[in-house]
Amino acid sequence: MMHFIGSLILFCLAFNACADSKITQQLNKPVPGGVAVVDLGRAVQIPKASYQSRPVLVVKEQSNWLAIVGIPLTVKPGIQQISSNGHNFNFTVANKKYPEQRITLKNKRMVNPESADLKRIEAERAVLIQGYRTFNTVTPSNVLLDKPVNGPLSSKFGVRRFFNGEERNPHSGLDFAVPTGTPVKTPADGKVILVGNYFFNGNTVYVDHGQGFISMFCHLSKIDVLVGQSLVRGEFVGKVGSTGRATGPHLHWNISLNETRVDPAIFIGAFQP
Ligand SMILES: [Zn+2]
Repeated sequence: MMHFIGSLILFCLAFNACADSKITQQLNKPVPGGVAVVDLGRAVQIPKASYQSRPVLVVKEQSNWLAIVGIPLTVKPGIQQISSNGHNFNFTVANKKYPEQRITLKNKRMVNPESADLKRIEAERAVLIQGYRTFNTVTPSNVLLDKPVNGPLSSKFGVRRFFNGEERNPHSGLDFAVPTGTPVKTPADGKVILVGNYFFNGNTVYVDHGQGFISMFCHLSKIDVLVGQSLVRGEFVGKVGSTGRATGPHLHWNISLNETRVDPAIFIGAFQP
């Protein structure tokens, strides 16, 4: 019996298999648009990891390193692979069906932009995508995040959206229904890497939490930060508004990992399969 208990303890220590970590429990939601938490084991130094040739966030919990991988909405269910220090690690993506939403916009330019708008949209898209490519080696202060505002969730991530009957990109973030002027807090420490006004997103702020883990806040009525500014968890970045393509005041919050937008609900413990 003692031998058995001894073996069990050794097994637990060696493989961390007896209790999933808090991070794995909350964040491991391997569906399209979700997150895979991959145990990379022990190492003295932080291992590098990549998925689809992009660097991946790696954090330590207890004695093990965990890769926190953003899974694109376009990935089909099945086996996916990351590589780390010359080894491959598999994870399995399960199916998830996202609902549809039909939205009516009075401003038809927001559905079928004019040619001058299209030029602006193209230029802005390049800037916004470039922002998500930021990869600083800083370790995030926390990967289990605070809600940036206190309020009910309105539109969920991944919803297939039809504006005035025409299908557009699926919803890339999570919406909170809160009044104009509500202060928006950064859900973890970070550095402001982008501030601007954009056609669809309105007044926008990016906060880089480290290693490609980036928050985007959109439709703000007011921006209270400058590019380059360092923020601690809970500091204000701006105020809720309805600038850009918005049917009313709300906060739109994106989370990006390895240049991939994933469901922010996962990070605040509000994920629904
Ligand atoms: Zn939104």
